[in-house]
Amino acid sequence: MRTDDDTVEVGRSEWLVFKRSSIHGTGAFARCPIPEGTAIIEYVGERISKAESLARCEQDNRYIFTLTAHEDLDGRTEENLARFINHGCAPNGEAELDQERIWIRALRDIAMGEEVTFNYGYDLDDYQEHPCRCGMPECVGFIVAEEFFEHVRQGNRLRSENG
Ligand SMILES: [Zn+2]
Repeated sequence: MRTDDDTVEVGRSEWLVFKRSSIHGTGAFARCPIPEGTAIIEYVGERISKAESLARCEQDNRYIFTLTAHEDLDGRTEENLARFINHGCAPNGEAELDQERIWIRALRDIAMGEEVTFNYGYDLDDYQEHPCRCGMPECVGFIVAEEFFEHVRQGNRLRSENG
């Protein structure tokens, strides 16, 4: 649903309401205070083989998570509301694999109305095609895993020095 009215919801779960985000597209917002450690929402999808996963990743499917040594999860399905959760460079949530299921868990107490984010954990492949607009003071400007932040910051400095 495309609308300019940011109060319009596209869905709800136990803890979250999904509506327009200033970060990107639709985002997930806390319906009530969420205590640290809460399993906020399950990231659901289709279980696929590693071969199928590779093929879909090559088609730029960015919703795939590792499940086991033999299977991955493709979250690009209508029923997976968690796919709307935006990336954040200093996120209040994290994706956690637990017994072959993926949950978005609260890293700290989250206030009612706050947008819930997690780090998408992207590697450096074509990272400059994935700018981040999370707006957090810690933002490195691109969607990458935290282990790559320093590398990306160095690249940002070089680019700014070279004009
Ligand atoms: Zn950011």
